[in-house]
Amino acid sequence: MTNPQTYPQPAVELAGFVDDYLYGCEPVADCGVCAALARELAEARGAKEHGKAYTAAKEIRNHPHPVKRRP
Ligand SMILES: [Zn+2]
Repeated sequence: MTNPQTYPQPAVELAGFVDDYLYGCEPVADCGVCAALARELAEARGAKEHGKAYTAAKEIRNHPHPVKRRP
C-alpha cells in the first residue's frame, strides 16, 4: 500500500529566483544614468522599499544605449 504524505511540506524558497526576476539588471558601466539608478536600486533594496527597487531595476533594463560601432 502506498503511503501518501498528508501534511504540508516546508515552504519552497523562491527568494533568490524572485529577486533576480524583479531586480535583475545590467547597468552599463560608463553610463551616468545607469550608475545613478544602480545606486538607487541598492539603497531601496537596503531599505526594503521593494516598489522603488523594482522601478529602478526596470529603468536600468529599459535605459536605451546606442550600440557602439568600431570603425
Ligand atoms: Zn544607461
